[in-house]
Amino acid sequence: MDTLAIIVPCYNEQEVILTTIKQIDQLLTSLIKKEKIANDSYVIYVNDGSNDDTWNIIENNYKVYQHLQGLNLASNVGHQNALLAGMHHVSDKCDMAISIDADLQDDINVIEQMIDKYYQGCNIIYGVRDDRSSDTVFKRFTAQTFYKLMQFLGVKSIYNHADFRLVDKRALKFLKEYPERNLFLRGMVTLLGLNSDCVYYSRKEREAGESKYPLKKMLSFAFDGITSFSIKPITMILLLGIIIMLFSIIAIIYTLFSYINGHSVAGWASLMISIWFLSGVQLFGIGLVGEYIGKVYLETKRRPRYHIEDWLGEKDA
Ligand code: UDP
Ligand code: MG
Repeated sequence: MDTLAIIVPCYNEQEVILTTIKQIDQLLTSLIKKEKIANDSYVIYVNDGSNDDTWNIIENNYKVYQHLQGLNLASNVGHQNALLAGMHHVSDKCDMAISIDADLQDDINVIEQMIDKYYQGCNIIYGVRDDRSSDTVFKRFTAQTFYKLMQFLGVKSIYNHADFRLVDKRALKFLKEYPERNLFLRGMVTLLGLNSDCVYYSRKEREAGESKYPLKKMLSFAFDGITSFSIKPITMILLLGIIIMLFSIIAIIYTLFSYINGHSVAGWASLMISIWFLSGVQLFGIGLVGEYIGKVYLETKRRPRYHIEDWLGEKDA
């Protein structure tokens, strides 16, 4: 039997964390009893610099639950980095790792199916939501647009899959070789070229607490996902520039023709429209290129992605 590590990133989750701790512990105990996973399997709560009681709760429960471990990051580095910190930490202390959000929106009951598929030889098993009825219409619409856009831009990603997935030891090792700072894990795992499969579940409402992904953060995450994985937007701006240039050649010929024939009139409207439109296109283009240059700048600094303050777990490690 193989050892499972469940990684749970937590940021200001004091309202829900205790429920999560209890439910995951129950699940682990039953999986161990069923002899699906080894007795030293565990769950590790990664505290992403919370400024509420989250870490205290984790610490207080360390003695209570046998399979509970904790990793305390020194500051808030974001969901993706917290998840990566957890994966790096467990990579040589488990055979497979499952990442799941602290709010229990993802159905922990499909974890058993994930493990079955792991034993059948899959390296990565994606949790896919086949029912989003608990999400608002707006969230559903924006999420769908995002997945479609990613597909259009040629980024391989799994439709309706967030960060609920099982990765095996090999995938964990491969992921360690990715040095990027702009993390978009769900895009990265599809690049590993390993055997994968999906399990399906319906996403529930948050058990308690509020979403840590307000609209602004969600949009910026989506934008990061796109610009970290595709340079197609730049190509598209280039194409747009070429099309507008060709169009303006036609306009110039037309203007000259009108001038020669004495039909030229003071074209205030067309002039204003072109100036505004073209300035807009130019600023958009420059901004987009700037965005990529900014990313290059951040990557070249090679700053650490997280710092570990302390951790709760096997004392000998
Ligand atoms: N999270 C985190 N760091 C952050 C923001 C969020 O570790 O800076 C965690 C959060 O505690 C949760 C998961 O990431 O476990 C997903 O966040 P949330 O449920 O708020 O996002 P939503 O499901 O609303 O998209
Ligand atoms: Mg959530």
